Amino acid sequence: MAMILESLETGPLAVNCYIIGDDAGHEAVVVDPGGNVSDIKSVLARNELVPKLIINTHAHFDHVGGNKELSESYDPHLPIAIHPAEAGLITQLENMASMFGVRLENSPPAERMLKEGDIIRVGVIELQVLETPGHSSGSISLVVKGEDMVIVGDLLFAGSIGRTDFPGGDLDTLLANVKEKIFTLGDDVKVLPGHGPATTVGRERRFNPFFGTQAPLFF
Ligand SMILES: [Zn+2]
Ligand SMILES: [Zn+2]
Repeated sequence: MAMILESLETGPLAVNCYIIGDDAGHEAVVVDPGGNVSDIKSVLARNELVPKLIINTHAHFDHVGGNKELSESYDPHLPIAIHPAEAGLITQLENMASMFGVRLENSPPAERMLKEGDIIRVGVIELQVLETPGHSSGSISLVVKGEDMVIVGDLLFAGSIGRTDFPGGDLDTLLANVKEKIFTLGDDVKVLPGHGPATTVGRERRFNPFFGTQAPLFF
């Protein structure tokens, strides 16, 4: 079997939605459907994948805006998985999004609560949950087992880090989690962030201005 990984930018703030599937069992998970649900469904269909679960790295509206439409596109509805500290927020999206001038439908409630060490199995795919708060209180990262790959939500970006000025954010917590839980995965591990291009642990450990001790590659 080979893993299928596709990403597309979705929703009002261009969130990276990741689709991970296996080409043998044809099952998939969808991480952070920010919107553009018809595009997400096209990618799934093109790869002959049937989604089994929606996972939200955290509850900010830009990452969950497509939950309802995507979940209800399938019969039975796709269940939603999130950390318990974020679960209450996804059913109050309308208020959050309207503060940013965006109209969104509330997400259906989450059916699966994720915590540190949980393994999410979909077909032969295994995703290991890391609790990585700092950008928000229940932010998680997902290690794609056997693939040297980690999905980090808005914890860490190529050359930057997630904002910590929203409720539940904390800079020291974020920096500690990146160092203790992401950088320890190994320099070759690919980092798939919630916004912007993919990077690697090694590159961020050395050159990210919030962590690195070496001069940046480019000025
Ligand atoms: Zn966020
Ligand atoms: Zn975001």
